[in-house]
Amino acid sequence: MPEKENSHESALRMQQGVEQPETVNERAVSKYKRLRKGLMPVEEYVRGIREGNRVVLSQAITLIESALPLHQSIAQEIIAHCLHHAGKSMRIGITGVPGVGKSTFIEAFGTYLTGKGRKVAVLAIDPSSQRSKGSILGDKTRMEMLSTDGNAFIRPSPSAGSLGGVARKTRETLILCEAAGFDLIIIETVGVGQSETAVHAMVDFFLLLMLPGAGDELQGIKRGIMEMADAILINKADGEQVLLAKLAKTQYSNALHLFPPSPSGWMPVVETCSARTGDGIERTWEIISEYRQMALDNGYFQNKRLEQARQIMFSSIEEQLKQDFYRNPEVNRFLASIEKDLRENKISSYMAARKLLMIYAGHRRKE
Ligand code: GDP
Repeated sequence: MPEKENSHESALRMQQGVEQPETVNERAVSKYKRLRKGLMPVEEYVRGIREGNRVVLSQAITLIESALPLHQSIAQEIIAHCLHHAGKSMRIGITGVPGVGKSTFIEAFGTYLTGKGRKVAVLAIDPSSQRSKGSILGDKTRMEMLSTDGNAFIRPSPSAGSLGGVARKTRETLILCEAAGFDLIIIETVGVGQSETAVHAMVDFFLLLMLPGAGDELQGIKRGIMEMADAILINKADGEQVLLAKLAKTQYSNALHLFPPSPSGWMPVVETCSARTGDGIERTWEIISEYRQMALDNGYFQNKRLEQARQIMFSSIEEQLKQDFYRNPEVNRFLASIEKDLRENKISSYMAARKLLMIYAGHRRKE
């Protein structure tokens, strides 16, 4: 074959008779197109969210939850556009052991609020849903009324990744919900582990639900969680449990007096309620409104949000540094041999870590 006939072709296509591969670029472009299929331009997501379109909101949240880099980068753009429309809601965290009545309470409380013309979004952080499919906050069948309420939006917990990753996704989802006009964001979690600290770090008001008639140790609630609470509600204060609930109220009120005062100047409130009958639901809203007014008046509300944003920045730095470190090829090249030295007592843990960090820093400098 005369060379000039193919002179316009790439070197990859010079050999006849061999099936020609797509060029790298073609492959990348077609993969990109495939991935892009079904996706809208960023502005359309943002417009849909701003118009309160729940389908678009859900689709954008799915992008936040996706592990695909393309989805992640689109999600980040959407978030960036939504940020200055966010921040205007009251963010309420709700925790308590499984069975205490969280979903029943949120159903009653959320319905009460939508009845007052508020727009309520319910998000969740459920660490159990990462490992097993069965989550502690099992979703679909819960909150049946609220899930068909036009002024409510319910989104179950993101299910993949570390608690840090799940918390980040919920925080980003919160921004989109606020941009969509939801002025009350409820973030629910189970009171059995670390996740309530993550929720506490992203809400304005933290509500702990307790059962009547069982000590806090029995309920698996740690002192640290009680200290975080702005209000404790003894739920199921109905029928035969009314007296027990009142007793629990006195006990918890006394216990709270022993805790150091909160920097907000707020004295945590203990009340009884019944998510089933609706008793105490209105009072709960009054308590939260009183808190909000007080915290806005003394500047604590804004300061707390700024401090939360600062903390999130630092924890994001840590998370990203950690990821980058463990993905670094040089670190991975030396990790096994340094671990071996550690096992053979040739090097201390501290020095092993230091050596790896030096390797990482050296590689970064060269990049
Ligand atoms: P969660 O696991 O904390 O979300 O708890 P659920 O909302 O699923 O409630 C657990 C059980 O307690 C369900 O059978 C509810 O019907 C019941 N329950 C919830 N709230 C109340 C209440 O105020 N009074 C009574 N008697 N039962 C309640």
